Amino acid sequence: MPPTLAFIHDTPAVRAVLRVGALSDVADEARRLGRRALLIADEAMKPRADEIAADLGDRLAGRIDEVIMHVPVEQARAAVAYARETGADMIVAIGGGSATGLAKAIAKELHLPIVAVPTTYAGSEMTPIWGLTEGDRKTTGRDLHVLPRTVVYDPVLTVGLPVSTSAASAMNAIAHCVEGMYSSAASPVTSLLAEEGVRALAAALPRVVADPTDLAARSEAQYGAWLAGWVLGTTGMGVHHKICHVLGGTYDLPHAPVHSAVIAYATAYNADYAPAAMARLAGALGAATAAQGIWDLARQIGAPTSLAAVGFRESDAEEAARLVTASAFANPRPVDPDSVRDLLIAACRGDRPPERVLPPQISDPSH
Ligand code: NAD
Repeated sequence: MPPTLAFIHDTPAVRAVLRVGALSDVADEARRLGRRALLIADEAMKPRADEIAADLGDRLAGRIDEVIMHVPVEQARAAVAYARETGADMIVAIGGGSATGLAKAIAKELHLPIVAVPTTYAGSEMTPIWGLTEGDRKTTGRDLHVLPRTVVYDPVLTVGLPVSTSAASAMNAIAHCVEGMYSSAASPVTSLLAEEGVRALAAALPRVVADPTDLAARSEAQYGAWLAGWVLGTTGMGVHHKICHVLGGTYDLPHAPVHSAVIAYATAYNADYAPAAMARLAGALGAATAAQGIWDLARQIGAPTSLAAVGFRESDAEEAARLVTASAFANPRPVDPDSVRDLLIAACRGDRPPERVLPPQISDPSH
């Protein structure tokens, strides 16, 4: 018998523009939201930000050209003060999740609308989630004021994203789809988005790696990242994101590579507790199992499949597992320090996940 449907679905009010050459739309998109723009750009995007600044003309209120990963509170405070000084009534942010993150830190305090111009596949542009780091403590929260109002995707901007960063960032996006698919907050619509996001990313990335200038592949990857960010912002994440949050914050490991190294093992960990979600993910990957499909894709595109390779020591697995399980969070399979430690050790070793992990459960909340 098919299950009786029950869900809550919230559609984010985000306008999205995706086209080759969309960089030249940014100033017009900014005009829809305000009169004076604060322009934030990460270092790699400075020349592109110069083009936006020229298009904005006297509607440019100020610029921030330095962005630090994980948004340190000191930088966030200085940026809020600077935004106030300039009298900006909106923000344009161009760059990866870190640039979007700094814009969100300002929007959280000043409630300024954001035009996000993402240049990686992190997906932050589609979420109301902010993150701030103080010392080795990373805090995140949800606030609709930080959800960008407009997102401009221009595949041309991603052509210079190194192949290794592209691959890891795409695995980060796939991780959003995987955890959104088995989230208890999933709806039939978010599951469609997640499935299509995985399909698009898995189809695009091998082509991106073969030819980073292939704009058709780059646009399909951005389309997948858009869907993945949408899933991240409208469902709930589980053990995988909790692990990556702890590893990034406490052990200062790079965001996207850590996601890439953990996701196959987190998927295997949950496999028998969300079989319907896993079957759809496996189908989207064209693989026998979701975990193996993810691992095979990562290997094919040269993304990390081992935590040891991204700088995590197996000897820290016990401590990290304690930190991960220190507070409760939703996940299909129950978590405890021992099982998370074993997951981390498997991720350190980086072997292909086995076909089966545990006997199947009776109830399956996933769609
Ligand atoms: P990032 O923004 O730190 O960028 C990684 C590197 O790539 C940087 O050196 C950057 O300069 C460079 N880069 C970016 N785009 C480039 C391009 N097109 N060409 C060449 N170089 C380019 O990394 P990220 O993975 O995009 O984002 C990670 C951050 O975003 C983390 O702090 C993470 O917590 C946050 N994040 C937040 C959310 C959310 O919903 N709040 C979602 C995903 C990620």
